[in-house]
Amino acid sequence: MIQQARTILKQTFGYDEFRPLQQDSINNVLQKRDSMVIMPTGGGKSLIYQIPSIIFNGLTIVVSPLISLMKDQVEQLEEYGVPALYLNSTLTTEQYRINVNRIRAGQAKLLYLAPETLMLEKTRRLLSTLKVDCFTIDEAHCISEWGHDFRPEYRQLAEVRKEFTDAVCLALTATATPRVQDDIQKILGMKDSARFVASFDRKNLVLKVADKENPLDQILDFLYTRNNQSGIIYCFSRRQVDELAYDLKNNGHSALPYHAGLTDQDRMNNQDAFIRDDVRIIVATIAFGMGINKPDVRYVIHHDMPQNIESYYQQIGRAGRDGLKADCLLLYSYSDRQKIQYFINQKEGTEKEVAERHLDALINYLVFDGCRRIPLIRYFGESYKKSQCGMCDNCLRVKGNEEDYTLQAQKFLSCVIRADQLYGAYHIADVLRGSSAKKVLEKGHNKLSTYGIGKEWSKNQWVQFSRLLIRKGLVEKDPEHGSLILTENAKPVLKGDASVTGILDRTQTASDGAVKAKTSGFVEKRYNEHLFEELRKKRKELADEQDIPPYAIFPDTTLIEMSYYFPQDETSLIGIYGVGDMKLKKYGNLFLNIIRKFTRENNITSRSRVIRKRAVKTASKQRHELVGKEFQDGKTIDHLAEQFGVKTATILSHLKKYLEDGNSIDPAGIINTSGLSERKRDEVFSSMKKLGPGLLKPIYEDLDKEVDYNELRILQLAYLAGSKK
Ligand code: ADP
Ligand code: ZN
Repeated sequence: MIQQARTILKQTFGYDEFRPLQQDSINNVLQKRDSMVIMPTGGGKSLIYQIPSIIFNGLTIVVSPLISLMKDQVEQLEEYGVPALYLNSTLTTEQYRINVNRIRAGQAKLLYLAPETLMLEKTRRLLSTLKVDCFTIDEAHCISEWGHDFRPEYRQLAEVRKEFTDAVCLALTATATPRVQDDIQKILGMKDSARFVASFDRKNLVLKVADKENPLDQILDFLYTRNNQSGIIYCFSRRQVDELAYDLKNNGHSALPYHAGLTDQDRMNNQDAFIRDDVRIIVATIAFGMGINKPDVRYVIHHDMPQNIESYYQQIGRAGRDGLKADCLLLYSYSDRQKIQYFINQKEGTEKEVAERHLDALINYLVFDGCRRIPLIRYFGESYKKSQCGMCDNCLRVKGNEEDYTLQAQKFLSCVIRADQLYGAYHIADVLRGSSAKKVLEKGHNKLSTYGIGKEWSKNQWVQFSRLLIRKGLVEKDPEHGSLILTENAKPVLKGDASVTGILDRTQTASDGAVKAKTSGFVEKRYNEHLFEELRKKRKELADEQDIPPYAIFPDTTLIEMSYYFPQDETSLIGIYGVGDMKLKKYGNLFLNIIRKFTRENNITSRSRVIRKRAVKTASKQRHELVGKEFQDGKTIDHLAEQFGVKTATILSHLKKYLEDGNSIDPAGIINTSGLSERKRDEVFSSMKKLGPGLLKPIYEDLDKEVDYNELRILQLAYLAGSKK
């Protein structure tokens, strides 16, 4: 039977392989053995009942509280040629009647039901006349009081389930602690049932936490290279949602708000626009997301801190359901943390205790400086097997970027003490820099011994540094006044017994050069974007004609594969991800025509490869030539710095010399070294264009001294290398 399941996987759904646990759990269901499957969002739970439903003679019932998803799911199934129907309160009397008649006539293999619909006497009577082979309960954690989303009406499912003695019971959920799992099994009376628990690790999500400094700017930086992608931005309050949506629109982004203050109609329209790719960004309070199934959400940003790890995990889980790389960015600030603390303080007893524990776990995740997957996954009771994932900000940070800041820590901490621990970071920074700001003089802080001992850093750097000290638990911020207070941990640092290392600037949101290099499939990296856009346009047109979401026609992965392999006929098209029999028949030719036309017009037969020019001179032992050659052979600047035991600045100057000798170098390899966002980089480049790239000082001034010389040197070289091509 599992062979038959495999055939359906390919023929109907167009997939080559089962995902982990799919095969075993499908097999179990087909043997009519009760099963519980815990799998993260996007893991592929739906196929676990959809494939058996095609094989079983009788009906498969799917109970789900997410009424808004049913229509979507049924539409998608229709696209695959799988007959499915739903019954819930959103149907008109007429539609309801039609669906009931079709069920009676055996015209559906799958029936989606809201729990309250299932409880109705008339539904029970209808179902008692039918043969039901599988009874699926989606979002099964709702049945347990220990879950985070308990729904009393779910309790009664246990009774109903007994009426279907011939049906196998399948419970599905994305979040369930072991305790909740036990509960589900007990309540549903699942006998000898197997549990299939998939890893909580969502490998395709890039996890990133940045210090919140100027959130709008940080988000614009992030969005700069993501114009065509769909994303969700979560905010704490409705007001923040409205403001941000407005600001993004003002900056030329396609964004709509979503929160409980809008009318039902507006909310539905905005959600629909997102699902149909008519708008790119939804700015939302946590209210958004339960009812969407959109597989190609490419990023989730948290403008504000989430409530706890569970909700964070659930929210980022809405990104990258299609398995392609997706980014999760969280902007963290100390005052957000205090806001949440404030709400917790209003609570009492166990509720307060639980909330405190949740907050602690979240903070622990946010300030963690090792691989972020370690605390995240451990939270769900699973241990992470590796020490590095290569897909979080901490793992992606270039090794050696951590610097020793013990001296600065001593300066800062003693300045805080001298000022009686009554002031915030901005004031301390002023004192350290020897500023003659009014407040400094008024308080007589120009007489402190720490006055002016920190001129090596800008005010901004000292403020960033204060965050590092908070992260490291050396100082705390007074919740009311914002003044900094030393903790016990600060003592050994002041005495010189402990050192402080870390990364100063953690505000950058868009420097993902390294991420790009590491992303999963090679196809994902190298597909033809022009063809992809054309295919996407066609998909949108077809979707609008039929009034269904674009992803119900083909997911992005399918279009990406088409834009990489350029299939020319049906035989090769069927090999593409997500192309099953039904879709081949329905859309095959429409898409093939576009691909054929594109390959003809662009003369594409095979892929062109970049052939690197080798340096001609061989005998010379000049350092800069060696460096240049190795760089052109693909070594990174950091690698070379390590290899030759010099600073990156030295490597840069070698490369500059190499370039001046008349060689060419690949600008992309240099740009990768830059820590600036693409938006900022473009500003630097246009300044170079305006003033000429030769002298850095005028450019430094032109950019309001915001970009440091190291960065300017990198970009100067990139500029020179690029203009030489
Ligand atoms: P879940 O319900 O667990 O959140 P879904 O069932 O919606 O996840 O599946 C997520 C995506 O992965 C869907 O687009 C689905 O078609 C796709 N998918 C599921 N199983 C496979 C598979 N074996 N191979 C490729 N894609 C799959
Ligand atoms: Zn990591």
